[in-house]
This record gives sequence, C-alpha cells and structure tokens, in this order.
Amino acid sequence: MASIPILKEREKHIYRKGAEPFNLTCGHHSLAGVVSQRACVFCGSRVVLYPIADALHLIHGPVGCAAYTWDIRGALSSGPELHRLSFTTDLREKDVIFGGEKKLHRALVELIDTYQPRAAFVYSTCIVGIIGDDVAAVCRQVSREKAIPVLPVHSEGFKGTKKDGYKAACEALFKLVGQGPVDQISPWSINILGEFNIGGEAWIIKSYYEKMGVEVVATMTGDGRVDAIRRSHGAALNVVQCSGAMTTLADMMQARYGTPYIRVSYFGLEDTSKALYDVAAHFKDNPAIMARTQALVRGEISAIFPELQKIKAAVQGKRAAIYVGGAFKAFSLIKALRYLGMDVVLVGSQTGNDADYETLRDMCDDGTIILDDANPLELSKYIIEKRADLFIGGVKERPIAYKMGIGFCDHNHERKTPLAGYEGMLNFAREVYRSVNSPVWRFAPARAAAGKGASPC
Ligand code: SF4
Repeated sequence: MASIPILKEREKHIYRKGAEPFNLTCGHHSLAGVVSQRACVFCGSRVVLYPIADALHLIHGPVGCAAYTWDIRGALSSGPELHRLSFTTDLREKDVIFGGEKKLHRALVELIDTYQPRAAFVYSTCIVGIIGDDVAAVCRQVSREKAIPVLPVHSEGFKGTKKDGYKAACEALFKLVGQGPVDQISPWSINILGEFNIGGEAWIIKSYYEKMGVEVVATMTGDGRVDAIRRSHGAALNVVQCSGAMTTLADMMQARYGTPYIRVSYFGLEDTSKALYDVAAHFKDNPAIMARTQALVRGEISAIFPELQKIKAAVQGKRAAIYVGGAFKAFSLIKALRYLGMDVVLVGSQTGNDADYETLRDMCDDGTIILDDANPLELSKYIIEKRADLFIGGVKERPIAYKMGIGFCDHNHERKTPLAGYEGMLNFAREVYRSVNSPVWRFAPARAAAGKGASPC
C-alpha cells in the first residue's frame, strides 16, 4: 500500500523523537474534516460527571447527543444506578425555532418527581448554545421548586476541546462542594479525584487507603454520591489522578478551602506505590500511616511478582502503540510496558499540553512517534511504519487495531476489568499477554500479507 500522506496542517502535531527542533503544537481545535479521535466538549463533561450514581443526568439537546454518551463509562456503583439511564429533552425543529426552555422545565420536574435524585445535572449541547436557551435560569427555578441542587453544565459541544468539557464539569461539581457537614471527618483524610470506577478501580484504591488508616471522604466521581461531594471540602488532601479531568476542581478547592492536592497515577507498580507513599508522606504527623503503607506495598507486590515475571518473559521485545485521552495516563503506561520489557513505538493523546508532551519526549526512546489529537489515518500510518504488535486505547482505537491485525488492550471506558493498583497491573499484564500472543492474528489479512513480506495493510 502506498504510504499514507499527512495533511500539511497536521504536520506540526506530530513529532519523531530525536528530530530537531521539538515544537509540537497542541491544545488547538481539531482540524475540520480530519475525523479526530477527540470527543466534544459535552462528551468531556459527561465522562467526568456520569459516575455520580444518585444524580439525575439530563441532556438538553437532540436525542443523538444522548445516544452518543449513553452509559459511556459503564461506571460501577455500589448502590443506586440512576446514572446508567440516559435522559434527554429530545430537541426537535420546533424547539430550535421556538426555544426549548419550557420543555426543559417540564422534563426536569417530571424526572425529579419520578426518580427523587439527590441532585440534577443539565448538560447543554451544541444546539442549545446556538438557540440561546437560558439553561441556568431554568435550573435555578427548578432547584427552588424541588429543593435539590439543579446544576447547569455549560458544555456546548462546539465551544472548545474535550478539555473544556472537563472544566465545565468541575465548575458544576464545585457548586456542590461546601454544602455538607464536616465535623466527623478525620484529620487524616483525602478525596480521590479523577478516578471513575469503570471496572471497580475506585474500590481497590479506597481499600488501600483504608488499610493505611486514611479516611476517604469522597471519590470523584467513581461510585460517587452527591452527599459525599457536598462534604468533600472537609478532607485534608485532594489526591488527583489523570492530568486533565479534575485538576480544575482541585485548583478551585485549594483557592477557596485551602485544600492542598497532589497528582498521582494508580497504574503500574511504580506509580501505584508512589501514590500511596506520597499520601503517607503528606500525613507525616502520623508515622503509623507510613508503616502500614510500607507493609501494604510489600505484601501486594510479593503476591503478584511471580506471575508478572512469567508474563514478562513471554512479551519481552514486543512493540506497543498508545493513544489515550489524557497524557498522564500515557506516562504510566510507558513505565508499565517497560516493566514488562516492551518497547513503546508510538504514543499520543487527545488533550495533552506543552508540559505533557515535553515529558513524553523525555521519556520516549529515539524514533518514537508522538502525536497530538490524532486521527485514524495517522494512527494507522505509524502503526504500520513502526510494526506495532499491540495498540492500547479506547473504543475508537479498537477497530484500527483489528484492521491492522494486531492485539488491542482497552484502557478506556468500555472495559470491565480493573486496571488500577497492584491487582490491576496483573490484569493488564495478563491482557497484554493474551492479546499480543493470540494465534488469531495469523489469520488477519493484514498480518498474513506482512508474513509474506508485504506491507501489513
Ligand atoms: S454536543 Fe454537539 S458535538 Fe457533542 S455530540 Fe452533541 S451535536 Fe455532537
């Protein structure tokens, strides 16, 4: 197959490690027409707020926006599951002409009466931004009528990047913070931010902190509850996972309530241990926490070490491509793949910033391709060129991997296996091993062609 060309306007979003100078462009609107892998502002808000299980999530817009994000994270709940239902005002032509505020009011009242949620989030979509419905005014009115928080999420899809959606979600969440009692909260307490409990990760991480003797006040937003979020300003520390999604909320809580925060990752042995030790070090006035953390880390690593060594021997030298939402996840993935003896040949993100890409440049080996806001053609091109054996990404990357005839590991919303913590690292290693070594790839046309010396496409 002839080499896949790169659009001129996209060239500055791609960097090959070792080439000079390094001036990767990022943080811009996606180029029209390229079918970016990136999601819209509304989707960014939806993925952050969706796991709050006892809240009503109402999408003010056409039914398509709701269908697009229905059960988008599949986030697990230990109690109510209202979040898994998708509600929309289903705006049509007449609503676009005459306005959708009355319809929104009717929908909110009916849904609150039916489901009795602890709070409601109302998401603005593209068309609402265009017709100019006053969503905030309707939310205020219903909040007064029903005596629950009804929070507008200003997430019109067109008005920025997915990252702006994270910010809109954090701004809506921040209106809940500070409304609950804090008198019973321990001085050794945290909030977990940026963990969405897709496969039960929040429960694993929470159990580590409980064993360390640290109280978890709120998880935002995995297995989230409105009342816990309302009292989250009483925690002594915010522990923020992922680079983009919830740093805005941590910044706002620091500014208003003086809550300090640290950034962590719970992916891979190295980063999980560092996260736990960093939290323990924060509570240096209670040395028992550090002692318990050391025992916990020792016990967890020794339990999974023997199997990890076997897997390592079987995947050593395989080549991996990574394309994820936030770059912070990519940092951890690179470390985890290196631990397994694999080479990372391509890495990219939807929402990385200048500092993120500089870190990636420093972490990667010479020749590694670094991509910002990529599209399927670019990913395919470099997967072929770098002869990747495995692609790690989300739902939109899965078909690319299968078309290329290579293994795939879901590290996004659709998986059901927890990948966080020590147990998660073992799950990840097992999945990498099974996918990359599966005999099925011998029968994929792309691989069969590659085996005969042709390009794998
Ligand atoms: S908000 Fe706009 S871009 Fe996002 S799904 Fe709806 S129509 Fe599409």
